[in-house]
Amino acid sequence: MSRVEIVSASSPVDFRPSNSENSTFSRHGDDLPWTTNTLLNNLSCSPTLRLTASQLPGANTNVDENIFPSLPPLLHGHPKVHLRNGVMNASRSAANHDPDAEKAFFVADLGQVYRQHLRWQACLPEIQPFYAVKCNPDPYVVRLLAALGTGFDCASNGEINQILEIGVDPTRIIYANPCKAVSFVRNAGKLGVDTMTFDNADELYKISRAHPGAQLVVRILADDSKSICAFNIKFGAPLAVVPGLLAKAKELNLDVVGVSFHVGSGCYDPSVYTDAVMRARTAFDMGTEAGYHFSLLDVGGGFEDALFEQAATYLTDAIATYFPDRRGIKIIAEPGRFYVSKAFSLAANIIARRAPLAEASAREEHPDQPSIMYYINDGVYGAFNCILFDHQTVHPYVLAMGSSFHVAASEPVTNSSVWGPTCDSIDCVCPATQLPGALRVGDWLGFDNMGAYTVCAASQFNGFEVSNVVYTTGGFGASEVRRVLAKFAADAHGL
Ligand SMILES: *Cc1c(COP(=O)(O)O)cnc(C)c1O
Repeated sequence: MSRVEIVSASSPVDFRPSNSENSTFSRHGDDLPWTTNTLLNNLSCSPTLRLTASQLPGANTNVDENIFPSLPPLLHGHPKVHLRNGVMNASRSAANHDPDAEKAFFVADLGQVYRQHLRWQACLPEIQPFYAVKCNPDPYVVRLLAALGTGFDCASNGEINQILEIGVDPTRIIYANPCKAVSFVRNAGKLGVDTMTFDNADELYKISRAHPGAQLVVRILADDSKSICAFNIKFGAPLAVVPGLLAKAKELNLDVVGVSFHVGSGCYDPSVYTDAVMRARTAFDMGTEAGYHFSLLDVGGGFEDALFEQAATYLTDAIATYFPDRRGIKIIAEPGRFYVSKAFSLAANIIARRAPLAEASAREEHPDQPSIMYYINDGVYGAFNCILFDHQTVHPYVLAMGSSFHVAASEPVTNSSVWGPTCDSIDCVCPATQLPGALRVGDWLGFDNMGAYTVCAASQFNGFEVSNVVYTTGGFGASEVRRVLAKFAADAHGL
């Protein structure tokens, strides 16, 4: 039998199971005085966990590496192992009475980022990715991508500084925000970041004052109606105004070098890339008419993990059709979520539970309403801001329940809702999902695909800290990830 204590023995769970629940709930009923030692003893002989000694909490020192002294250690092993280790560490912290012992945490699998890069290279060998930093500016992720040779799409002074500080050459940055503060434009110029987008005449005046030597990219409107997050309402010049903008740029003696578009983030119909590339072709021709010689095509972001190969096919075909002669044209893209969405998982602790409809009679009266409400220690003001800002839906699974990481297939589930820890009722992580009714305070829920637009926009509203990240190189590709990161660090590319 596998037993892992996940609730502090010394601060026993603060709820009283009702009589009807006692039968399904024996762990706290038996009132065992669990300590860290009993935890470890039980773990090491556990058939379910199959963890070796080196995978136990605190036993990682001989296999982990500190390639970057300023960053947390880079662990080996499958992310699932680290989710479990984190849960066990939390249990130890709880036994030590550490405040915030059960804090939620991410596990980042850098091997997954690397595998996405291989996928990119296989499907879009002609297109150089410029990672959209805003999607997840994680220090390991940007170092790994820099080490793999990608460029970076930055949208602010802060992002530019972050990328330059790790040793990336400014020519590998595109400042892809069409509406920039004039001081940011000036600073970009000072730092050698020359490539930047624009989509309006005011921006041209600003750039002519603050960075007249910039290499400009006109951002055109693309059909974003097939994306979860549309951008057209805020950015993109309609083709009809492009000739006027280019004439204005000429008049101001500015250099326009190419065209960019963005089909919207989270694009679920990749056929829109065809239309966007066609529009870019028209804009290229407008450039020629205005006396420019465009050499840069930027196809933006929007790549969804599940639809990537399809998107790549549409793009490749469209580029072949509309840019049959690509000599002298560099093609780049600005993928964000494609690289990171699957690379991060989150473990969150159930800190409270309410069962307003636990009685069978109440459930019959409200058959559609979740009968159990679980409250976890990260929410929409934290990592789950993606639900509000990025329109994501998340799917919790049981990471640790009772004393085990294993949930029997026969475990009865019930209609449940999952809530964040703040005092705001908007803080709902999951309005309706099926979870075991026997989950208790101290158990853990897991959430996969938490890498895109999550950590980066988390706030500390209501005094809840942003969840920490545990890093691993994962499975396939792990040694290559370590090799390129070690080389990157050795080349003295910052810390
Ligand atoms: C957000 C953004 C991206 C990244 O979009 P994804 O959908 O995450 O790939 C790329 N370029 C620009 C200009 C953006 O604003």
